[in-house]
Amino acid sequence: MNERMSMSAAQEIAAAACGYLTIDLGAISRNYLKLAEALAPAKAAAVVKADAYGLGARPVTEALYNAGCRDFFVAHFLEVAALKPLLPDDVVLYVLNGLQPGNELACAAAGVVPVLNSLDQLRRWSAAAHGLGKRLPAALQFDTGMSRLGFSPTEQVQLKSELADHELVDIRFIMSHLASADEAESEQNDQQQAEMQRIAHEFPGLPVCFANSNGIFLGQSYHGYMARPGIALYGGNPTASQTNPMETVVGLKIAVIQTRTIPAGTKVGYGATFVAPHEMRLATIAAGYADGLPRSLSDRGAVYFGDQRLPIIGRVSMDSMTVDISSLPVGAVTLGSLVEMIGSHQTLDDLAQAAGTISYEVLTSLGQRYERQYL
Ligand SMILES: *Cc1c(COP(=O)(O)O)cnc(C)c1O
Repeated sequence: MNERMSMSAAQEIAAAACGYLTIDLGAISRNYLKLAEALAPAKAAAVVKADAYGLGARPVTEALYNAGCRDFFVAHFLEVAALKPLLPDDVVLYVLNGLQPGNELACAAAGVVPVLNSLDQLRRWSAAAHGLGKRLPAALQFDTGMSRLGFSPTEQVQLKSELADHELVDIRFIMSHLASADEAESEQNDQQQAEMQRIAHEFPGLPVCFANSNGIFLGQSYHGYMARPGIALYGGNPTASQTNPMETVVGLKIAVIQTRTIPAGTKVGYGATFVAPHEMRLATIAAGYADGLPRSLSDRGAVYFGDQRLPIIGRVSMDSMTVDISSLPVGAVTLGSLVEMIGSHQTLDDLAQAAGTISYEVLTSLGQRYERQYL
């Protein structure tokens, strides 16, 4: 690859953006197909909440639709508005966070499937169905050990006794969410699965929807009738300790906006947390914590130029950070050069780990200041 040519092209575009975020929609589609194949005969839905983990709900959902996905989960009803108008009628949208008071008629009008998380939500949905004189679809979520959302164990008894009264609520499936699926060895996975099986037995005839990305890789007994992968579609590693089976989706390159040489003893960045032990050459790059690059990368993360690791020096600022380019030949990195933040040398999971967080948080924080290139 002709580095010089690609850099001069980059120099022209870089004036407008702090960096380049490439999102490989083809890779998202192939990741979907891979999961769908692993799940068959169970179905693969797709979780596209939080703007498809920050990657753009519209293009991502369209790509997934073309790959055959018809079931999409968002977190809030608000997110339905962005998606619903652009999707064909054969798409089903589920709202994970449940049915909020006052939202019943809007939810019914939009034709979405709320995930009902409590008796109160079920009763309001049932009342809306009676008011409209028609059946309304829903999923029922049970809390099997996360204490976050879903019918509590005590509510289950009451639910069982009054379910027949809510005949206008068309229950598509029952679901629950795994708390420790990212640790394949965790006992909690088996405990939650056993609890889900007990619940399925209490409410016979209803399909089970259980696994997230990691849950799919815990084995077939977690697959149920439909799984709800999110991060694996976007290239995050859904296995605890194995090599990532998913294709890379995101690449991130940041533009260099200034270079300098500093003598020994010079302070770098807010709080002067770094003092040069010898003469150094530095580059300031055009993205910071406002662009989703955590401040916890200060003095510990790195970027890459070619195969060369360039340590982050001093604190990460809001809109920029400084990296050590002393190891590169003089002039190799200049104004407009692009350094790799996420790519073949540093995966999304590597970056998240360096920052002490998870790939989910990195993706959903990337923000709107990068030039986005959809492949
Ligand atoms: C976010 C979410 C998912 C997707 O999880 P991943 O780990 O990204 O696959 C699935 N189910 C529920 C209830 C969620 O909140």
